[in-house]
Amino acid sequence: MALIVQKYGGTSVGTTERIKVVAERVKKARANGDDVVVVLSAMSGQTTKLLGLAKEVGGTHRGREMDVLLSSGEQVSIALLAMALEDIGCKAKSFLGYQVPITTNSSFGAARIESIDTSAIDAVLKEGLVAVVAGFQGVDSDGNITTLGRGGSDTTAVAIASALKADLCEIYTDVEGIFTTDPGVCEDARKLTKISYEEMLEMSSLGAKVLQTRSVEFANKYNVTLMVRSSFTDTDGTLVTKEDSDMESVVVAGITYNKDEAKISVLRVPDKPGIAVKLFKPLTEADINVDMIVQNISHDAHTDMTFTVTKADFDRAMEIVRSSAKELEASKVIGNSDIAKVSIVGAGMRSHAGIASKMFEVLSENDINIQMISTSEIKVSCVIDEARTEEAVRALHAAFELGTQEAKEEVL
Ligand code: ADP
Ligand code: ASP
Ligand code: MG
Repeated sequence: MALIVQKYGGTSVGTTERIKVVAERVKKARANGDDVVVVLSAMSGQTTKLLGLAKEVGGTHRGREMDVLLSSGEQVSIALLAMALEDIGCKAKSFLGYQVPITTNSSFGAARIESIDTSAIDAVLKEGLVAVVAGFQGVDSDGNITTLGRGGSDTTAVAIASALKADLCEIYTDVEGIFTTDPGVCEDARKLTKISYEEMLEMSSLGAKVLQTRSVEFANKYNVTLMVRSSFTDTDGTLVTKEDSDMESVVVAGITYNKDEAKISVLRVPDKPGIAVKLFKPLTEADINVDMIVQNISHDAHTDMTFTVTKADFDRAMEIVRSSAKELEASKVIGNSDIAKVSIVGAGMRSHAGIASKMFEVLSENDINIQMISTSEIKVSCVIDEARTEEAVRALHAAFELGTQEAKEEVL
């Protein structure tokens, strides 16, 4: 008998019909003799709809009330699944975050899980019931409801699997696993059998939203093996696990993109100590994360600084930078939110030269202008015009021979 955590994302519970299908799948696992804890997202579109409602009444910032609102989506889906399970003779009990409890810090909208008390779930499993837990939410030490950031149900599932020492954590979604790139953008994307935590971490943080970045960090830290698979088919998915010798020994594992970026340039700032802190400290104080930063070589003791933030933070960041511009003695602040970041990721890049230049060449052959570049040991990212994103992803995917087409040719 095994203990399995199954997480179902928004599309997997998007309608009551889909919830019934999930109930059957859970029942099947129970019939195998396994204990099952289910973690659910809200029905698809629900969280975004709630954000829209907040905007209509002037609520745009992360905060206590936003989390009270956003957490309500998961309350609906867990209750519906528990009912659907009871209806087919599978006893179940639902839990909101505070009922588990899943304790987090107080960073509303981006809370981090600090501890999970497993006694209530253990007791329910002992009675032979299925525990159905709301993803994406927790409670802070003052009893406030918190949420973990978009896609946060993945993190709830991994954290619960780790706390319960589950044998497996299955992430059910609307694609059959982790692909070499987003299968929604590139038809030729190929499903991977296995991927290392390290590569997955990089893919997620560079935009592959199939797993929330934090969930991969957690899985890596606590050694939780993940199986990402479809709730629409019975096909095997992708294992996310420790790097091992039979993992595909490729240089580039995948291509990712992130359209949720915007660029701000501060022109002709005096090139002297203290400029970076004057520019970035007010942004940090406003809880705005800065991603890529480029500082140009200085001419006549002046330099330009360019950096990226999320699109959601763009307007606020522009306001803050404009108000610091005077103190910075900058001549101009320019913003552009029509940008995207495309990246190539692969652990094999560590030992291979020339990968970055091949990426630049592919983009240039397609007449796609590179606005910013950033590299690490296992990735290269370029900021480009947002409208060219899909084209860039497909061209890079083909040039690095990642698709099913190439795999087929290799076999022949
Ligand atoms: P869920 O609602 O199940 O959490 P998400 O929408 O958060 O699902 O994530 C699944 C989506 O991630 C897929 O539909 C796919 O478009 C996208 N995606 C992006 N990159 C990848 C990738 N490399 N492999 C698989 N899916 C990806
Ligand atoms: N419902 C939340 C969201 O849409 C959490 C999740 O689906 O993982 O972001
Ligand atoms: Mg998701």
